[in-house]
Amino acid sequence: MADDRPDASPPARERGGFFAKVKRGLFMTHTEILEKLGTAVKKGIGIDESVLESLEEALLSSDVGAPTAAALAERVRERSSLSERKDLAGLREMLRSEIEGILAAAPRAAARADVPLHVTFLVGVNGSGKTTTAAKLAAREKEAGRRVLLAAADTFRAGAIDQLQTWADRLGVPVVRHSEGADPSAVLFDALAAAKARQVQSLIVDTAGRLHTKKNLMEELAKMRRIAAREVPGAPHRTLLVLDATTGVNGLEQARRFVEAAGADGVVLTKLDGSARGGVVLAIYRELKLPVLDVGVGESVEDLVPFDPSEYAKALLDDETVSAAPSGAGVTG
Ligand code: GDP
Repeated sequence: MADDRPDASPPARERGGFFAKVKRGLFMTHTEILEKLGTAVKKGIGIDESVLESLEEALLSSDVGAPTAAALAERVRERSSLSERKDLAGLREMLRSEIEGILAAAPRAAARADVPLHVTFLVGVNGSGKTTTAAKLAAREKEAGRRVLLAAADTFRAGAIDQLQTWADRLGVPVVRHSEGADPSAVLFDALAAAKARQVQSLIVDTAGRLHTKKNLMEELAKMRRIAAREVPGAPHRTLLVLDATTGVNGLEQARRFVEAAGADGVVLTKLDGSARGGVVLAIYRELKLPVLDVGVGESVEDLVPFDPSEYAKALLDDETVSAAPSGAGVTG
């Protein structure tokens, strides 16, 4: 998780790989925005009203959300009237720094609780990438030298338990599972007991995301929270809302219901590699008031990148992204 690292910026030697992954993840969004702006700037003379309109359009189609798109276009209008640089590069630079400014003011994740057993819940709708993210997080915990256990508490989605088991086997991480359709709270209870007995340091809980029985799902998540708190003081220490970037702003209303019922400390934004809606990061801050902690940029375990606001703004708008991305674009592991 992002807060494992007191300094969110990776060391210089890792930066190449880190930035490359963010760039790969944002390639589609980046291209979409720059194409629209490039065409508009060429047609107009400098940054005129038609360019600002195209800018707002480009931001809307990358799913930053209507209020943020309007506010950003307004800021660029103000700044460009004072600026000498009225070309595409100048426009991109203004936009990048404005986006960075919005992200800098976004909520921060609380530091990781320093507890013997740290419990993480993953919540979100079916198909958002919870099970995959559980595996990615387990791999990261293991890499950090922590004893980790997975709990297969999504007992409703067909195949979810076996999918998690397959990941766990591959990673060499133990998993607590019951049969499909079993009570998720019972899985959690057993996982908490096993974690305590085996001195596990990090328990990662995959939960169900079905929506057709919404009320029951939310009650079930609330019950799981109570059980965790009863068994381990302060648990769950972290609840992560897993959101699929390809659903963009359309997914936010549903996400809000999860936040209301299950609580959430931050968002893992998945499938950024397959979406031109990377601007949704800004809408998440505005609509859900939650920090994006990690982004998923592929289906392999190493395709989980701690979110870094300035790398994000840079990858979204820099030239470098265009020249560096094509070889890796679309690769999902
Ligand atoms: P769940 O129902 O929430 O547990 O979702 P899954 O973990 O089963 O993920 C649904 C699909 O999305 C699977 O095919 C995953 O491989 C895929 N997926 C998850 N995260 C990412 C990601 O960051 N990028 C891409 N391209 N695919 C992902």
